Amino acid sequence: MARANAAYYADRDPLGRDFITAPEITQAFGECLGLWAAVTWVQMGRPDPVLLAEAGPGRGTLMADALRAAREVMPDFIRAARLHLIETSPTLRAIQRPRLMGGTWHDSAVTLPEGPLILLGNEFLDALPIRQFVRRGDTWAERWVENGAFAERPAENAPALPGTAEEGEVREVNEPARALVAALAARIARSGGAALFLDYGPAESAPGDSLQALRAHAPADPLAEPGHADLTAHVDFAALAAAARAAGAAAYGPVPQGVFLGRLGLHSRAAALAANDLPGRGRRHLEAAARLTASEAMGRLFKALCLSHPELPTPPGFETE
Ligand code: SAH
Repeated sequence: MARANAAYYADRDPLGRDFITAPEITQAFGECLGLWAAVTWVQMGRPDPVLLAEAGPGRGTLMADALRAAREVMPDFIRAARLHLIETSPTLRAIQRPRLMGGTWHDSAVTLPEGPLILLGNEFLDALPIRQFVRRGDTWAERWVENGAFAERPAENAPALPGTAEEGEVREVNEPARALVAALAARIARSGGAALFLDYGPAESAPGDSLQALRAHAPADPLAEPGHADLTAHVDFAALAAAARAAGAAAYGPVPQGVFLGRLGLHSRAAALAANDLPGRGRRHLEAAARLTASEAMGRLFKALCLSHPELPTPPGFETE
């Protein structure tokens, strides 16, 4: 999965062609996250400088919208912000560069400089490679790919898995996602800040095979043409929250994306965009906001998770009713 996705992203811009993401659906998404970052910066005590980072910026749309909105309401934040982008795809870096002038690019979070950090990541964790384990008898086998087909071998160096399970039950573990979250949580506990991830997956850890390939907006066979389809899996938010807490950070969520964006004011922003657009063009803003927030669309399966310094107040959008 790691090699297939690296090949897949390396030489193409899949957004709009194979799949579509929230920032490409409406500018209001990135704008709301920009204001989220600005409020978080105030909660942090306005550190200057502050690292403003994004993991997997795609076409750079989210961050461009976030910067524009935050500059409008809190120019001091944008003056203090040092922009850092984590992106491995040369093709996407080339698209991001002119839109995110002054940024510094990284292959991984490891090389981010020390200091207070605000990090955003939309549909990043779901692209990181999972391992799949299958219950066989009273033990776990691991699923591999051999000669273009799935094969099972006795599991070695397996992470902690349930002691009992139904025959054939599948458990997925995303070790790079857990390692990233643990490393971010440790540096946030040390140097301050918060990281906000939006992605799709269940609220509680659940068994099941969620590996999915998408090509031209339709499900595809994940093994048919490796590197030619987008491979993703459900994000195990509960496991990531536990990894963050174990590393010394506070964790909030997951909160359904519809609830989270509603609290950030997505609908008011969409209404303002609609009111200011050309006659007949207003409705698309409201439809886009509805697509991101409606339960039957992206409002419930997608969720927001935040890791933050334990002394920060509850981050915007994570207040409990
Ligand atoms: N956040 C964007 C793009 C999501 S697609 C949006 O919402 O539109 C996933 C992004 O993560 C792409 O930019 C891809 O190139 C990047 N990516 C995938 N795997 C990565 C990895 N292991 N390291 C760094 N970036 C990665």
